[in-house]
Amino acid sequence: MTKVIRGIYRISPALITFAAHYILMKLEERLAARSENKCELCGSGGKLNVYEVPPQTGGYDDNNILICDKCLAQIDKKEELDNKHWSVLTTSMWSEIPGVQVVSWRMLNRLKNEAWAADSLDMMYLDDERLEWAKKSGDHENDASVDLHKDAFGALLLNGDTVILTKSLDVKGSTLNAKVGTVIKNIHLVKDNTEQIEGRIEGQMIVVLTKYVRRQAPKE
Ligand SMILES: [Zn+2]
Repeated sequence: MTKVIRGIYRISPALITFAAHYILMKLEERLAARSENKCELCGSGGKLNVYEVPPQTGGYDDNNILICDKCLAQIDKKEELDNKHWSVLTTSMWSEIPGVQVVSWRMLNRLKNEAWAADSLDMMYLDDERLEWAKKSGDHENDASVDLHKDAFGALLLNGDTVILTKSLDVKGSTLNAKVGTVIKNIHLVKDNTEQIEGRIEGQMIVVLTKYVRRQAPKE
């Protein structure tokens, strides 16, 4: 036993990093071959990402799919759902790849207010095990709405953005100077509340309502 432990101990961290990298590379290569370098949901080429269909325990090919930036952003709820884009689900739902089936099912559920998506769901068959996996994300209980933080003019806000106050704020119990035009850098989106962001004014962390800010476009 001691011998075995010593043996493991002797593997250098660099080697482990290399091994992990190698395994990951192999996975990406296998997925690229499987998908013929196309998004496994919408079929588009270009930059592709390995998406680990959650929840999962191991790096099995069946649990991973190769998808484009657009599919990824909308699956991750970082972009609003584009119904037209997802009409591809009527094809991907018939894929033999379990990860593709599960994600297709989840996305069809998020779009189920659309007649075509509801019809597709009626036709789709997942065995018990896959259905259980598919339900674990909770997406089937949600509608197409995506909780996004938006500024006063409807522009999407992201963590790290810079915003400008569109209204002078009266910060209770403080002498803070938060006049119109005050710049707040490196904002943080308040989780579970799309109407609030956090940021520092004169070094003080305060919560600001998104309806009182305008996003400043990053400098080119
Ligand atoms: Zn795609």
